[in-house]
Amino acid sequence: MSTPTVTQVADGVHVAQGTSVSWILLTEGDAFTLVDAGYPGDRDAVLSSIEQIGYSLDQLEAVLVTHAHVDHIGSLPRLLEGRDVPVLTSEVEAHHARREFLEQATPLQVAAASWRPRVLAWSLHVVAAGGTTKAGVPQAQGFAEGALDLPGLPVPIVTPGHTSGHTCYHLPHTGVLVTGDALVTGHPTVRRTGPQLLPRMFHHDVAANRRSLDQLRRLSGDVLLPGHGVPWRGSYADAVDQALNARR
Ligand SMILES: [Zn+2]
Repeated sequence: MSTPTVTQVADGVHVAQGTSVSWILLTEGDAFTLVDAGYPGDRDAVLSSIEQIGYSLDQLEAVLVTHAHVDHIGSLPRLLEGRDVPVLTSEVEAHHARREFLEQATPLQVAAASWRPRVLAWSLHVVAAGGTTKAGVPQAQGFAEGALDLPGLPVPIVTPGHTSGHTCYHLPHTGVLVTGDALVTGHPTVRRTGPQLLPRMFHHDVAANRRSLDQLRRLSGDVLLPGHGVPWRGSYADAVDQALNARR
């Protein structure tokens, strides 16, 4: 097992970086919220990140999901086995998480779409991390409108495009924005770092994703936590501009 790097980015906000994807831990008192959960193969790394911040799985109050791709929900079936922990996301994405439909390119489709060695290496990594499973999270359900009464007081911002029900989570009290895969700062298949969009082949609807990013401009805060790449500090409007204008 690779031990994830866990970094505190704000009061009660930690980001854990697995081999190629991040998840976030929001603590408040003796409870915490987990936002996303890595690949199936990241289960032990998720447990390690929880221990590293001094908590245990018994203190997990809820899981929030940005979107139901295998690198963000993969560890959940085994992590939550026998536990009654709510798994929340947007109404549309909850259907996706339950695998009533699937909006994800397979590693083979992605590899076929590009000759680049980085893509091939990434595809092999995905397979090794258990990324070919079609397993869903049957208990996933849609959240209610407005701020969620969970550790971190996250406010969902539904941002369709990467997937039909993709959701970012804003933490107004700590000035943090979790952007999932709507806006990232790097990816194993690309060399460039900094605010950017994932390569086209990973998005369900590229145009919708670009439109959704406009909602992020007005949010208060200066820490951006993407699903892929390192945390970024600056204004969200700047991050959106850089991502929309970046050459790919
Ligand atoms: Zn992802």
